[in-house]
Amino acid sequence: MGSEERSVRTLRGVGERRAQALERLGIHTIENLLLHYPRNYIDLSKPCEILSAPFDEPCTVRAVVVKKGSEIRAASGIRMYKAVVEDESGSLELTFFNNKFALDALEYDRTYLFYGRLGGTLQKRTMGAPQIYPADTSAPFSAVYPLANGISNRVISGLIAQALMLAPNLPECIPQQILDSFHLDGIAQAVEMIHRPMDAETLGRAKRRLIFEELFTLAVGVGLLRTRIRQCSAVPMQPHSLQAFYDALPFTLTNAQQRAIDDLTGDMQRSTPANRLVQGDVGSGKTMVAAAGAYFAFLSGTQSAMMAPTELLAHQHYSGLEPLCSRLGMRVGLLVGSMTASQKRKLRERLAAGEIDFCIGTHALISEGVTFRNLALVITDEQHRFGVEQRAALQQKGAHVHTLVMSATPIPRTLALMVYGELDISVIDQLPPNRQPVKTYKISSGKRERAFGFIRQHLDRGLQAYIVCPLVEEDTEKEATGLCAATGYMEELANGAFSGYTIGLLHGKMKSTDKDRVMSDFKSGQIQLLVSTTVVEVGVDVPNAVIMMVENAERFGLSQLHQLRGRVGRGAEQSHCILLSDSRSQDTLDRLQMMCRSNDGFQIAEYDLQTRGPGNFLGQQQHGLPSLRIADLSTDTDTVTEARQAAKQVLSVDPDLSQPQHAALRAAVGRLMDVVGERPN
Ligand code: ADP
Ligand code: MG
Repeated sequence: MGSEERSVRTLRGVGERRAQALERLGIHTIENLLLHYPRNYIDLSKPCEILSAPFDEPCTVRAVVVKKGSEIRAASGIRMYKAVVEDESGSLELTFFNNKFALDALEYDRTYLFYGRLGGTLQKRTMGAPQIYPADTSAPFSAVYPLANGISNRVISGLIAQALMLAPNLPECIPQQILDSFHLDGIAQAVEMIHRPMDAETLGRAKRRLIFEELFTLAVGVGLLRTRIRQCSAVPMQPHSLQAFYDALPFTLTNAQQRAIDDLTGDMQRSTPANRLVQGDVGSGKTMVAAAGAYFAFLSGTQSAMMAPTELLAHQHYSGLEPLCSRLGMRVGLLVGSMTASQKRKLRERLAAGEIDFCIGTHALISEGVTFRNLALVITDEQHRFGVEQRAALQQKGAHVHTLVMSATPIPRTLALMVYGELDISVIDQLPPNRQPVKTYKISSGKRERAFGFIRQHLDRGLQAYIVCPLVEEDTEKEATGLCAATGYMEELANGAFSGYTIGLLHGKMKSTDKDRVMSDFKSGQIQLLVSTTVVEVGVDVPNAVIMMVENAERFGLSQLHQLRGRVGRGAEQSHCILLSDSRSQDTLDRLQMMCRSNDGFQIAEYDLQTRGPGNFLGQQQHGLPSLRIADLSTDTDTVTEARQAAKQVLSVDPDLSQPQHAALRAAVGRLMDVVGERPN
């Protein structure tokens, strides 16, 4: 709290208990309080007539009090108070529960605005516990605030009204010239109007300004991060031909893969480090871009490291890339947490001595004690699986290191510009040839046996299948929700529908050596049917597996389902994805229908983003963005574009925000993300 910022305790009516309740909302100062924006508004500006007001929906009516009843005591002990109000169209009975005060406050023959849900019948309309406003209210939009235990909307509204009267000195973080060119209100005006809008238009202006502010601050922060990264220097690599690499591949790269490789190796020949994101749908062949980069680094006599989110994936990369790379003369190593201490020590020694050219591993790679002789390229696979800190730790690993991150989460462009604003992006928008789209169906559990039969037919032809369940072990949660749990489920299948077939079980709680054994048995075809939790979600590659069945499909996000589906359709055989769900929710049905309609990860992501918002879409940890107060990256896309434009303008004249007129902006960026302050040298 700055010295000039006043505590909320200085407000009338804030004692110890309220102060604590406010703290739970993150409100300590009067400034914090004013930045506690309403989450919604009750619109009093367009009252309905009683006769035409909709049932079971919140609405406002404008009516005069004609009757007040006496207290009624219900058997439950609740005291009810009734009143009758009228407008030209008809009458309405109001009920107040345990609230004599509300009834007493109503005056006969006076007109009020009543807000609530209409119930009762066509003959007798009722409204329970309405909120009451004077008919001549000067604030036609009544703010509804996010609340915490121990503090009501009325109290918060009152405190905010008090705070507004103190004419607080809110810092203006948007430079004047940006305010002018984007026609934005000043901060004081916007904050007053977000709390007490005069009409829909002022409310719209206030929202626009505050959303702009938030996105602008974020865009400036991302811009600073980008500059900071670009201020680092790297030793430029010499051009080398990758022909030997291409010749060693069993297939021809797609044009999109080739472009991404050219982008990356181009970056590596410059004196600023590469910071490239390769974004491509599941199965688009991102691993080959990584391998090409590692080979390029090898030709320059330097080392590369590739970090995968799970041991399973690290092993898979290792066993897939080691034969290819060693044919090219590269020495490949593997470093994962489950290796023995002596194995790890040996590997660390070889890394430090430069006896390994390409090291594949998990986040064990970024742990302390791992040193490289001349690390030049760091690759992160499935980067959305790593938290913010891990991303940072990786960047820390060397200021002179080139960075390649790979992600299968197809982030729509507007969002990508914010989330990955500091990175250059190569998109692999093409799948390897001869891939057939996966056929997707949604079925209910009544058809489960038929689906099992369908799977058996495929297993009998020497093909393989996955069944994914949301949970691992039988537990109380399962009993409560009827969710399918992998362990028990697998036993049931082994003794029933799939007796005589070899079934494997894979879940996250298994020891990693066990996981690896199961996975390699599945890869080699010894296991025909793999029952699993979502550990198979990321990156697992078994081209002979052609059916993916998902139990309780409603439990998964669309992007997650798309990832799961990406485990099949990797060979020439037609693949199928069966989504099992008994959910009746229209929302769920629409979402699963989307999966059946589309095989395009970007399209699905866009839909997911629109229906669930970016928070759910990526998860706070996953996208690493600070949480936003008022802006929504998925719907405020025009403002995202404007804010980025404005940020560019400001940073072009003051690249590190050192000018005094940008002090407030600098402070705001610092509050949002940790990019101001220390600078690299
Ligand atoms: P992802 O982008 O999901 O990480 P992978 O790199 O695992 O995809 O590639 C998926 C599969 O496609 C692998 O079996 C890989 O060997 C194969 N593959 C990659 N590129 C090509 C290509 N150009 N032509 C044919 N198959 C390819
Ligand atoms: Mg992959």
